[in-house]
Amino acid sequence: MTEKTRDLDTRIVAAIERLSTATRSAMRQVTKNYQLTPLQLQILAYVAASGPEVTMGKLAAHLGLRPPTITDAVVALEQKRLLERARSPHDARTVHLRVLTAGKKVLTRLTTWSKVLREQLELLSDQEKGLLLNALLFLIRGFQQAGLISLTRMCTTCVFFEPDRYSDPQSPHYCRLLEQPLRLVQLQVDCPDHQRNQGTSAIEKNPKRKSAVPNSREAANHAGH
Ligand code: SF4
Repeated sequence: MTEKTRDLDTRIVAAIERLSTATRSAMRQVTKNYQLTPLQLQILAYVAASGPEVTMGKLAAHLGLRPPTITDAVVALEQKRLLERARSPHDARTVHLRVLTAGKKVLTRLTTWSKVLREQLELLSDQEKGLLLNALLFLIRGFQQAGLISLTRMCTTCVFFEPDRYSDPQSPHYCRLLEQPLRLVQLQVDCPDHQRNQGTSAIEKNPKRKSAVPNSREAANHAGH
């Protein structure tokens, strides 16, 4: 690794730490004001973002936590009247989770952070967003492999994901389930068809792969920048 690359890596780490500090600070403010644990806030945010079909099982799988831990947090949220559990009208064995009005109000306190982020994202082109998403998914995958965060249903940890199958920098990957190339902007972070890659990933199997992230200059050139 050259001195120049090391310096670039250091600046990227510093930039990610700044973003992470902003997230933690926004979450800390809300958890303190509403006397919630970080897990309870995470559950509220996930249920609100997932729509009406989210179940305890899906929630436990998403957070990578044991069901009793999830149940304790959900019961606490119910007692605060922020969330409710309701049996599915179609299947009495299925219990869905729903954020109540007071819970939605709590989440609006987090919106300043996400609003600013969305405003900044609007300034990027689709190609730049695709590259950013691709890079983030590979970084998250590294954190998951190191056991620092729980499994999420992303392409980069999926058994069907085949990275760098094509030379097109904007559409390098392939989904073996869909049997089609995946454009960078199509990469999934919570795919219902995701299956965990238990063994050696396609990335490790591919000795030609030097970098987990496509060369951005190559991609920008390809995009005509
Ligand atoms: S099944 Fe879903 S998560 Fe897996 S590679 Fe295909 S699109 Fe990505």
